[in-house]
Amino acid sequence: MEIRSFEDLRAADNLSLAFNPYGLGSRMKPDDAAEFQQRQIADCDLAEGVAAGTRASFERLRTVFAYGVLCYDVYTMVGDQALLIYEQALRDRFMEWSAGTITFRFSQDPDASFAVTSYDDVKRLADRMARRRAKLVVATNTIEFNGMLHGLRQWARTAGLLRGRRSRTIEDALAKLRNHVAHPSGHHVDTPVGAAQTVRDLAELINQLWGWATPGGRLYPAPLHREIAVLSWNGSGRARMEPAGALSVPDPAEEREGDEYQHVVVRAVPFIPNSRWNDDHWAEFDTRYETTRFPTEYLWGPGTREEARAWLEYERPEGDSVDFTDRVFLIQDHERLLPPMRPAVAAGLLDDERLGVWHAVRADFPDDAFAHVRGSGDRSTGHVRLPGDCPACSAEVLGSGSYDEAARATTAVLGPIQAVQLPAVRLPLSIFWPDRP
Ligand SMILES: [Zn+2]
Repeated sequence: MEIRSFEDLRAADNLSLAFNPYGLGSRMKPDDAAEFQQRQIADCDLAEGVAAGTRASFERLRTVFAYGVLCYDVYTMVGDQALLIYEQALRDRFMEWSAGTITFRFSQDPDASFAVTSYDDVKRLADRMARRRAKLVVATNTIEFNGMLHGLRQWARTAGLLRGRRSRTIEDALAKLRNHVAHPSGHHVDTPVGAAQTVRDLAELINQLWGWATPGGRLYPAPLHREIAVLSWNGSGRARMEPAGALSVPDPAEEREGDEYQHVVVRAVPFIPNSRWNDDHWAEFDTRYETTRFPTEYLWGPGTREEARAWLEYERPEGDSVDFTDRVFLIQDHERLLPPMRPAVAAGLLDDERLGVWHAVRADFPDDAFAHVRGSGDRSTGHVRLPGDCPACSAEVLGSGSYDEAARATTAVLGPIQAVQLPAVRLPLSIFWPDRP
């Protein structure tokens, strides 16, 4: 190979300089590029309690990332290494979870527990047990477990350490990439953008494994804050969302238009400019169907602005926070496919409102659940109908059949459902869910 001088090694890599805050284009100055690239991963810190080995590997990765400005190949190596640390984190967390003992269940013989002091022990044991068709006991469940990445992922999900439906599909993608890194079959090059995203995803995954959701996270977001909001609409199809505090001043639009608005008070994710978590479907609010993207809780209404203000002043409701991942939706197929419904609302329906076929689906968003059920009508789309994770999307099928069958599948995962009966309230104009009875 060609021997390069120290001066040459210290010089910035022109390829790395081409990545700037606006994507790919005019070259940045080396100083600016060094700072810009490090900022991309500066805030993804690991939570307290993360195993020392995983933490050391992650910190090394962040250190090396900074050198990508000098050598573009570093980004590919960082991406590859991140995927190996993904498996290391699962192993370290598995060892903590085991607390030194793991138990296997046989089809005939009684359960057997074994002491393990390292992950090598676990792998040897798991291999032996897999040949005897024994299953690993994880709380009240058992899983097939051979100690490889696939088994570790299943263990983490069964143990309830990882959550979310969309995050599961990203875990799938990471596992495929990880296998590619371990058994490379071709040439691949990562960009600083791709490498930074992988490092950020890895930080979220590690933190979640040790019980910490990420505020504003992409994979394992912390619960979202909801505020008290007022939705209103008038006869000419205009709709608004205002914070509850805005009601203390008279409504100029209403006075000018002479067209009285209807108001409902809800708990909703507030609109924040440039936030990842704005509810683009807020104006679809409906007490019967889950037509907003994030859970929107009905509190009062409909009524006039004056009545809404009086109710708010008397009741003084407060905001809360809500986890929107892993929600269970019930979808009724009766003459046509209806929008997703909360199990509690479905439990409050009358018998003659429960006709047709019902699907119980777990998803992060109602549109994910709906798209899955619609897709599952056509075999060629790859969406499954049988219970389990859908290979074609992020939904998990819980069950389907009559209303009672779907409700039983729901109760099996959520426990008893408390029925709610809400007044029928919806905003009149709909873009995303126009087809509602
Ligand atoms: Zn699907």
